[in-house]
Amino acid sequence: MKAVVTGGAGFIGSHLCDHLIAQGHTVTVVDDLSTGSMANLAQLGEDPRFTFVQGDILDRELVDGLVAEADAMYHLAAAVGVYNIVDKPLRSLRINLHGTENVVEAAVRHRVPYMVASTSEVYGKNDADGLTEDADRIYGPPTKSRWSYAAAKGLDELVAYVHGAESGVPCVITRFFNVVGPRQTGRYGMVVPRFVDQALAGEPITVYGTGTQRRCFGSVFDVVPAMTRLMDTPQSFNRAVNLGGREEVSIKGLADRVVELTGSDSAITFVDYEQAYGEGYEDMQRRFPDTSLAGELIGYEPTRDLDAIIRSIVDHRGAALDRPVPTAGP
Ligand code: UDP
Repeated sequence: MKAVVTGGAGFIGSHLCDHLIAQGHTVTVVDDLSTGSMANLAQLGEDPRFTFVQGDILDRELVDGLVAEADAMYHLAAAVGVYNIVDKPLRSLRINLHGTENVVEAAVRHRVPYMVASTSEVYGKNDADGLTEDADRIYGPPTKSRWSYAAAKGLDELVAYVHGAESGVPCVITRFFNVVGPRQTGRYGMVVPRFVDQALAGEPITVYGTGTQRRCFGSVFDVVPAMTRLMDTPQSFNRAVNLGGREEVSIKGLADRVVELTGSDSAITFVDYEQAYGEGYEDMQRRFPDTSLAGELIGYEPTRDLDAIIRSIVDHRGAALDRPVPTAGP
């Protein structure tokens, strides 16, 4: 099978490429390298089944040409990370809205099954205990740019869904809940690699707000195989499916675990949201997935607990910093 992966130089995209190649498929990545990096794909460098194209998903001709040759399309390219969304709301909207429309229209035109990667951000401020796929979405006003990501990804899901339903072309929407792992960068805000880098450097760990907000981190090593299984399972078509972890933790609790697992002497400091993200930022207090639909469809069962997830990131970041770390791999 020939797969096209948009955003394949990014964190989740690059792990998906590894997985598809290991399954014997041929992979073409299109990525503009705005937040992704060739270092994430270095391990595939000379593989004859792998091709990299540097390009923009807003380029209709480019996208159309790549999709025309494909048997499956995985769309992961997006403007991601809270800092990015807050700093560049217009650019983020264009990529996340028009980019997705371009990719989905090309997939439908060529009748190529497609996956659109979405996010738990679409639930907005809904902090239900176990968000199911049909949970309500609660957003703040458009004057607060942090909602642009949630709103755009919510519309992306509609674009994916309506095109899939009208055309009959298989489509899967995956909703990622705080997926983390090696290769994720903290540069655009993601908390786990930020805390790990801070701990390894012996710098203060910056907990935003009170640290009582809670998240449930999922491992990229659980999520990526689930993506290809969903695409191979007709019962998954034209559905949105939650993917994530099972262990909930407060952000202060996360900081404590990172300090302990790295053996760091970093202090934990609390930073106002305003100082962290600028004026008017609203954080989600809780985001916890119900992944039972993925369980029913493909037997999805997250296997890595929080400590294993943190260790896999510590090993990777420690190697990048050329620094010995006191933990074992995943
Ligand atoms: N966060 C933090 N310190 C940081 C970066 C993030 O305390 O240096 C917090 C952030 O405010 C949020 C949580 O960690 O409450 C998860 O943030 P992330 O950006 O990783 O994901 P999301 O906000 O999308 O859940």
